[in-house]
Amino acid sequence: MAEKDVVLMIADISGYTKFIATNQTTLEHTHKIVEELIKTIIKQVKIPIKVAKLEGDAVFLYCLKNGNASAWKKDVKHINEKLLSFFDVFSSRLRELAESAPCKCEACKNIQELRLKVIVHIGKANFYKIGQFTELSGLDVIIVHRLLKNSLNAREYILLTDNAFKEINLTGIQTKQGTETYKDLGSIKTHAYFPTHHHKHMIQAQMIMRNRDHAHDHSHDHEHAHA
Ligand SMILES: [Zn+2]
Repeated sequence: MAEKDVVLMIADISGYTKFIATNQTTLEHTHKIVEELIKTIIKQVKIPIKVAKLEGDAVFLYCLKNGNASAWKKDVKHINEKLLSFFDVFSSRLRELAESAPCKCEACKNIQELRLKVIVHIGKANFYKIGQFTELSGLDVIIVHRLLKNSLNAREYILLTDNAFKEINLTGIQTKQGTETYKDLGSIKTHAYFPTHHHKHMIQAQMIMRNRDHAHDHSHDHEHAHA
């Protein structure tokens, strides 16, 4: 068993909690849709990030912390980009699935309700091999999982612990500070980032720019008309 410094990440799909699948079709379609979305996330996962485990509606990822400073800096940039790309691929796959939903069951009808959240923590983990599987364990592995249940009143976010936030600074992005308290773990300082807000702002900004461009074009037309 070896203890290593590691970035721990969980990408979790939620939104189907409101109903419990009571018929076979809904149950099958629920699994199929979640599976498709998990696959979409996993496709984005590239070395040095690795999949530790599939956990139902979630995927547990990790990245060994590189001892070499410049290599680590590169890895951080990679993690940064990946965290944000998870939300992009998730939402575009969600749209595709919603458009091609085969039926009117509760699962297919509610595809648009699905959301992604990602928890990120940096700490130590024990690695041990069981056959072809690598198992991660330790207090920090418990912490990252525990943070899936938190006090955030939002459906889609990246929640970073203070440890993770200090290293994986999502550049130029505003985060909301908070604290999560668990009976057995005590208080954990957190930083939440809301990608959907970010995207909305980006889209709004793009629209504003486009409108400005149009206005600009029109003023040119006028100039020409008057010339
Ligand atoms: Zn269906």
